Amino acid sequence: MGHVKLFIPGPIEVSAKTLAAFAKPVIGHRSQAFKDLYAKIQPRLQQLFYTKQPVFISTSSAWGVMEGSIRNLVNKKVLCCGNGAFSDKWLDVSLRCGKEAEALTVDWGSPVRGAAIEEKLATGEFDTVTFIHNETSTGTQSPLAEISAVKKKYPNVMFIVDTVSSMSGQKIPVDDLGFDVVLCGVQKAFALPPGMALFTVSEAAFERAASVKGRGYYFDFLEFKKNGDKSMTPSTPVINHVYALESKLDEIFTEGLDARFARHQKLADMTRGWALKHGFTLFPDEGYESVTLTCVNNGARPEKGGRIIDVEKFVKLVKAEGFLINGGYGKIKGTTFRVSNMGDETPETMNELFTAMDKAIAQL
Ligand SMILES: *Cc1c(COP(=O)(O)O)cnc(C)c1O
Repeated sequence: MGHVKLFIPGPIEVSAKTLAAFAKPVIGHRSQAFKDLYAKIQPRLQQLFYTKQPVFISTSSAWGVMEGSIRNLVNKKVLCCGNGAFSDKWLDVSLRCGKEAEALTVDWGSPVRGAAIEEKLATGEFDTVTFIHNETSTGTQSPLAEISAVKKKYPNVMFIVDTVSSMSGQKIPVDDLGFDVVLCGVQKAFALPPGMALFTVSEAAFERAASVKGRGYYFDFLEFKKNGDKSMTPSTPVINHVYALESKLDEIFTEGLDARFARHQKLADMTRGWALKHGFTLFPDEGYESVTLTCVNNGARPEKGGRIIDVEKFVKLVKAEGFLINGGYGKIKGTTFRVSNMGDETPETMNELFTAMDKAIAQL
């Protein structure tokens, strides 16, 4: 069997053009050529993140920056909002970093709401909050504007936002929202291979970091700032990945941000339409569905009703057609399944997948 095209919600399919962009000579990371490359992509990254703050390049997967954010910002206690597998893990990571941490637990499939965060912050116990914009395990989005309003009431509380699977797929106006750290990996909506993460840090977060002991070295925000000011990274970065990011940014800005965001919305609508047409319901609460992936309910939320199939068999049949979708994650494995529409997909390529899914479902 040849290549099975990835429609799992990360890592996702990477184009031949992007892969080819890696194949350039390695340059020294302290060379003028590297500084020029860094300086060239920096304004575009800022435009994509809607920020005037620097956007840093980390040679790690997203979890590196997630852990780094905790180590840089938590002096007192962190509130970890959990409504799925990835967000639940923040609590575990915070505790492993030796920080005081508490969970704000929300049902899987429901969004994290501003009021719930505000109630916790009113206790005065917390100096940091973590939450995930697009909880990839459940295909659920939490409302950024609503949570931003809480951040603005508590300017001294640092808000760390995981946009790992949404950044570049939809508009996330970082400076308007006022969040302190906004981070993402590049193997999701950017459609780059795994191995790099991007993140922004607010002025307030740099100030906080300066007061926190035990930041370590590799993810020290102040090291990133010091080096970033000179168009460099603290340690040797994944240089050829930066070439690939440059190539991807060319594509993103050729398409145009608004067109890119509209395309993702359209592809998500098509995927939801496929699920509903086949008698399924969607896993997230209505109105909070992700725009970069669709999590289909397959009995995980019985109150929602809808069709139930043998997911494992379905995923295998779709794979035999040359496409990989995901059969559910964590405690909702098998009782949901997920389809990504991130990256370079178009209505045509989604329809190819839907044809394969139609064929597979007819064989169940
Ligand atoms: C994939 C994912 C992560 C983990 O990212 P890594 O790059 O594997 O470290 C974290 N959060 C969300 C929302 C994700 O989708």
